[in-house]
Amino acid sequence: MNSIINDIEIIKSETTKIHDVDFDNLAFGSVFSDHMLECNFKDGKWQAPKVVPYQAISLDPSAKIFHYGQSVFEGMKAYKDANEDVYLFRPLDNFNRLNISAKRLAIPELPENYFMDGLKALLEVDKEWIPKQDGSSLYIRPFIFASGNGFHASPANEYKFLICTAPSGSYFSGKVKVLIEQTYSRSANGGVGFAKAGGNYAGQFYPTQLAVEKGYQQVIWTDDTSHEYIEEAGAMNIFVRINDTLITAPTSDRILDGITRKSIVELAKAEGIDVEVRKLSVHEVVEAAKNGSLKEMFGAGTAAVISPISGFGYKDEDFELPELEETFASFLKKRITDIQTNKVEDPFGWRY
Ligand code: PMP
Repeated sequence: MNSIINDIEIIKSETTKIHDVDFDNLAFGSVFSDHMLECNFKDGKWQAPKVVPYQAISLDPSAKIFHYGQSVFEGMKAYKDANEDVYLFRPLDNFNRLNISAKRLAIPELPENYFMDGLKALLEVDKEWIPKQDGSSLYIRPFIFASGNGFHASPANEYKFLICTAPSGSYFSGKVKVLIEQTYSRSANGGVGFAKAGGNYAGQFYPTQLAVEKGYQQVIWTDDTSHEYIEEAGAMNIFVRINDTLITAPTSDRILDGITRKSIVELAKAEGIDVEVRKLSVHEVVEAAKNGSLKEMFGAGTAAVISPISGFGYKDEDFELPELEETFASFLKKRITDIQTNKVEDPFGWRY
């Protein structure tokens, strides 16, 4: 099962949609490239992955994904440099996290070579779909879901692992205003918050809708018991700069171990920025906003890389963040995207 896959079967699409795509004006994740990777789990094992034309899939109405939400996913990107060479960023971390998520959802784990060799074969076939434009990339969505049938509330005996890709521009444009959540939680101790489980995101939509109705774009998630500690920003990890110290919450059962987050921690430290990974209370952030020591807040994740926050709401008060000329957010975003797109040396060995 773990042998190297030399020949991945490739069934090419007879047509291409690439000429319909305006690569200079890409939205995020809304057009899909010509092919996808497909790999099925049945008879107790993962079958050989194949590259096939991007197409609809047919499932029985009793497939367990529809009823019990047994699904996990990943988000990563492929970049092209000036020579049109293709790079991934820390892809093995995505692979490992996919299996951590799969295990928690009782989904059979994938062999590494099925993921890596499958991904490479797919990118080779759809290489033309990887944008060259600055700020754009090919967003990659690996996912596994329960395709096996039956109303019995137990793990399925069949699964599908697919990788689809979407040439994408930036995720958010401009700064976002966020609401510090005081009622709802995205995760709890002993739960699935650390996994990229589909249901985690479904559970975020309603509280986010309420925040949007109040004029915010995103929710800042707090811990589920006291709502006193800051944990994540929408579907991103969060960083807060107080004076010249960059603070982010430690990962836990409730927080996704973001690849951007851990890269920023390492990068910022290497650049001589004072970084603290520790619990951060809402009280501390509100006090810092009041006394002027709160300089920046930003979300960090693959899609947006770094997404600056312009202000936040807490209970019935709104707080603005200062407009700084030079921010950690823009400095770190440039450093990380330069590494991802092969514009500079990568002293960390992240580029693949
Ligand atoms: N937190 C959550 C809940 C997320 O969905 C994501 C996006 N994967 C992140 C954080 C950021 O993780 P990464 O940097 O690995 O994309």
